[in-house]
Amino acid sequence: MTTAPGVPTIDDGELVSTNPATGELAGRFPVADPAAVTRAVDRARAATDWWAGLGFASRRTRLLRWRALLANRISELAALSHRETGKPIADAVVEILAAIEHVDWAARNAKRVLRRRRVRSRLVLVEHSAHLEYQPYGVVGVIGPWNYPVLTPVGSLCYALAAGNTVVFKPSEYSPAVGQWLVDSFAEVVPEQPVFRAVHGLGEVGAALCRSGVDKLAFTGSTATAKRVMASCAESLTPVVLEAGGKDAMIVDADADLDAAADACVWGALTNAGQTCIGIERAYVVDAVHDTFVEKVVAKAGRLTVGADDADIGPITMPRQIEVIRQHITDAIDRGGRAVLGGPEAVQPPYVRPTILVEVPEDADAVREETFGPTLTINRVADADEAVARANALPYGLGGSVFGRRRATELAARIRSGMVAVNSTLTFVGMSTLPFGGVGDSGFGRIHGADGLREFARSKAVTRRRGPSPLPAMTFARTPAQVERIVKMARILYGR
Ligand code: NDP
Repeated sequence: MTTAPGVPTIDDGELVSTNPATGELAGRFPVADPAAVTRAVDRARAATDWWAGLGFASRRTRLLRWRALLANRISELAALSHRETGKPIADAVVEILAAIEHVDWAARNAKRVLRRRRVRSRLVLVEHSAHLEYQPYGVVGVIGPWNYPVLTPVGSLCYALAAGNTVVFKPSEYSPAVGQWLVDSFAEVVPEQPVFRAVHGLGEVGAALCRSGVDKLAFTGSTATAKRVMASCAESLTPVVLEAGGKDAMIVDADADLDAAADACVWGALTNAGQTCIGIERAYVVDAVHDTFVEKVVAKAGRLTVGADDADIGPITMPRQIEVIRQHITDAIDRGGRAVLGGPEAVQPPYVRPTILVEVPEDADAVREETFGPTLTINRVADADEAVARANALPYGLGGSVFGRRRATELAARIRSGMVAVNSTLTFVGMSTLPFGGVGDSGFGRIHGADGLREFARSKAVTRRRGPSPLPAMTFARTPAQVERIVKMARILYGR
């Protein structure tokens, strides 16, 4: 069997995963047919009573053990991720650290956020007490992308597990080995029951998971696939949380610290070879500081190394994305943009050297569509208000960044997105106390933080009668005189 490096193939019923730079084998995994997907969900369902029944304290103990395992074997997992996706080891380590942080927070905070709590009753139903419970859904299906093969699934699944659900996970066909490592390592600390399982294969396996009877589906991937996932899940009214694509903008105001802004911009745009959902793909810089900012970005980006090992920028993981990157660069230049670093010749498969484009028309693909490569457009704006208008002009709304002093907080609030970083980039993803998710074409629902825990639990409202009703409204035994008193009470309580 001969295949291009990094292109997943099916051989003898197995998904074969290889390194995008070298073609080295990363792993082979049996492809799950729809019946196998349903069996995996059934087995996970059989484990749900046990896992949910452990309670918050025992789940916390087990999740913290997994956290410790991840921390102690961080180098092993980073090396595997590097081998399978080409991601530089340093990027993989930073990614895994963020995932560990989420496991820790979800484990420690699930009880506080989701425990049963009393709720005050109001005057009209004063004879009832009330409480609220957060119950696990049951089996949560998790579908993940390849670009952050540890952080993206863990950012959903550790919250789902902490809330008492079991999980069936479909990793990307580009990162099944990393996905299986996560499942196997979890089984080392929770050997008793198949609480967290994987099913492997191409997109159709993800589609089968949507139709398998899971009780909730957490998807991370492109907007186009998110729509397909939602359509499949709609057939059975399976609830979804959709973490989809983005085209995040950075705004640089006149009073920004330009060295810090340039440094963060280069990192935010080019880390992981630009294959980052919340990566900075567009920068809007006010006229007064535009030229200096561009100079600084070009100087910093021009120093980055590109290559297989120990380089700042590794190969493009998904070979077919290289043509998209090439087309965005070429189209931007054809339409009047200028490459102040890199350009079409920077595309040397499987690598793309950093490419910084200026004066690119706002309706060019490089400004409107996800490029998902180590490229960045920088456009000049008259002031920060114009920058906000341009940042908000796309259907995407995932993250964003503002550099500045006096108006930074106000500008951040006006960016149409689920997250924004002031005077940094991407930082919100590692802040486990904060929710993560998009608006518009970037999806809906939230993972991470307290909202992320609640995303994986159904709220259940319980009332309990504790005495006779002073005003028996909800019974056919009520008399006309009592109805008259209800009318009076409504006027007294709410009529002013
Ligand atoms: P895709 O949408 O191509 O794939 C995502 C996952 O969905 C993969 O596991 C894929 O399987 C699976 N899939 C494909 N078709 C179907 C289907 N019909 N039904 C169910 N599942 C299916 O995204 P990529 O893997 O290429 O990831 C990159 C994208 O992910 C970018 O758009 C990026 O912005 C986004 N992303 C969003 C994040 C967020 O938090 N908002 C975080 C990280 C990435 P297979 O790989 O086998 O095709």
